Amino acid sequence: MGAPEAAVLIRQHLIDPEVCIRCNTCEDTCPIDAITHDDRNYVVDPDICNGCGACVPPCPTGSIDNWRTVPKQAAYSVVEQFGWDELPAQQEIAGDAAPVVAEPATDDGLQHNAALSASSTRAPWSAAHPYLNLHDNRKPVTATVAGNYRLTDTDADSDIRHIVLDFGTEFFPVLEGQSIGILPPGTDASGKPHFLRMYSVASPRDGERPGYNNLALTVKRVVADHEGKPALGVASNYLCDLQKGDRVQVTGPFGSHYLMPNHPGSNLLMICTGTGAAPMRAMTEYRRRLAAGGKPVDGKLMLFFGARRPGELPYFGPLLKLPASFIDMHLAFSRVDGEPKTYVQDKLREAGPAVAELLKGDTFLYVCGLKGMEAGVMDALRDVCIAAGMDWPALHARMVAEGRFHVETY
Ligand SMILES: Cc1cc2nc3c(=O)[nH]c(=O)nc-3n(C[C@H](O)[C@H](O)[C@H](O)COP(=O)(O)OP(=O)(O)OC[C@H]3O[C@@H](n4cnc5c(N)ncnc54)[C@H](O)[C@@H]3O)c2cc1C
Ligand code: SF4
Ligand code: SF4
Repeated sequence: MGAPEAAVLIRQHLIDPEVCIRCNTCEDTCPIDAITHDDRNYVVDPDICNGCGACVPPCPTGSIDNWRTVPKQAAYSVVEQFGWDELPAQQEIAGDAAPVVAEPATDDGLQHNAALSASSTRAPWSAAHPYLNLHDNRKPVTATVAGNYRLTDTDADSDIRHIVLDFGTEFFPVLEGQSIGILPPGTDASGKPHFLRMYSVASPRDGERPGYNNLALTVKRVVADHEGKPALGVASNYLCDLQKGDRVQVTGPFGSHYLMPNHPGSNLLMICTGTGAAPMRAMTEYRRRLAAGGKPVDGKLMLFFGARRPGELPYFGPLLKLPASFIDMHLAFSRVDGEPKTYVQDKLREAGPAVAELLKGDTFLYVCGLKGMEAGVMDALRDVCIAAGMDWPALHARMVAEGRFHVETY
């Protein structure tokens, strides 16, 4: 006879709210939708989670790897977890309790489930080794604003800014593709300190200005929510209003797999919209500096970049100065008067044969931008491959497994 329900113990999977950076990676990874979030916390639903562990390796902070042994009947509910500022301690369990019934999966389980993810959870084999989590919420590093420039036209709908942060003598190394956390000052409606927001690094590893201990961000001022209703984003407005000399609390660096390959001959296929340009600018500029310094960089660069209008496309001017021999560029505009709406997926289809050719080679693919772009891009890649007689599901799976297929949307 089994143990009475009240005495059954489970290993409950929990997320540490003090360390979690709200990057959404785990929610994207979980194959059975056991992870959810509200405005503040990412939480695991004890009624759904089967302890498979697929979400553990991709988590950039380790905050997801927390487990408490609890009576099944008294598992912490999703609503309870939403209210947490810190994890509860492990409670003492009575000695005659029944054995634990759910454990994290074996290594086999991990590998099996990780393969279901649409995006690589491992870095390219030749990527440089990233520094991770040098500073968390409890020990942020202070950076000084070295510059804050508007990138979009003055009459453009969106205000996107190029913000340069200087770290002085602090050790804060970043790689292209990594993100940092920004802690906005002040408290939210419930009186709690604002949680951090993530921003992709837009400059190469040797600094926005080569040889300087600084980095750049590409930040869009949020003035409406995803449904278009007026909403003043806390962190983006704080960042966009910063003046030269202001001091900012920073955490990170974060991101162990959305990194660029280092070996000569590797191709980069970059697909982005809006501020998703940040990691692409970092990677492109790193390759440009290598080439300018006479280093061997014979891999191809291909960029698909979408915005509403040219005046709203960050780095439009500098991009146009890059020669076609260095980068094959395809810009898509969705709101130009008198022209049909064009999105990155349309441009991918238009350039189909060249995209397919690149995908056959030693190519590393990067997607970045708002969440809504993902489905269209995936469909276009599938269509391009089918038209070229390629087996897209097999190629996609191989690229994911080999650390060559990276998606970061927010
Ligand atoms: C890994 C990662 C990298 C990121 N990189 C960048 C980057 O390089 N540049 C950048 O600008 N942002 C980036 N973001 C998004 C950023 O972290 C913030 O979510 C964004 O700036 C909004 O924060 P906020 O505090 O201003 O808005 P909040 O106060 O958090 O939200 C205000 C309202 O706006 C909605 N909202 C949130 N984000 C957006 C958005 N982007 N567009 C429209 N509505 C939104 C919210 O749902 C909410 O209703 C990244 C996010 C992640 C997870
Ligand atoms: S352990 Fe598995 S089921 Fe549970 S939240 Fe993580 S990925 Fe989902
Ligand atoms: S930091 Fe880890 S636990 Fe938090 S949202 Fe990202 S992946 Fe999930």
